[in-house]
Amino acid sequence: MTIEIRTHTALHVLKGAAVKVLGVRWTAGVHVKGSHGRLTLQFDRKPTPEEVVQIEELVNSKILDDAPVEVTDMERRAAEELYGDAIYDLFPIPSSITRLSILHIPDWNVNACNKQHTPTTAEIGRLTITKTRHRATKGLLEISYDIQ
Ligand SMILES: [Zn+2]
Repeated sequence: MTIEIRTHTALHVLKGAAVKVLGVRWTAGVHVKGSHGRLTLQFDRKPTPEEVVQIEELVNSKILDDAPVEVTDMERRAAEELYGDAIYDLFPIPSSITRLSILHIPDWNVNACNKQHTPTTAEIGRLTITKTRHRATKGLLEISYDIQ
């Protein structure tokens, strides 16, 4: 299990927590390098320090839950029927792609993603949010984190 598989899987747990705390919908970008990650979301304001703490706590409680990280290879049309556009991010998947790898953490996150993931959330380790940056002109919120 390489560190980047853990850091990448953390993006999905972080996104689920950000949806619950901030009501965000769209992911605009992701970045992973070693134990550092950054999730960029479409969001129209700077989160409060309390919201950031809440997101971090929610992520770590989901990690401690050791929730299953289910990955299913599906027909794109079937995935859309089941999950709607929740499987998509702001960066589009070409229409020529008719099968998708769907990541599902029940009641938390669903996303078309062809990267490798840990089988459960506990293997991610602990996540610390190191920085948030709101780019007002672009309407984007960047959440940077480290995993231990
Ligand atoms: Zn993924």
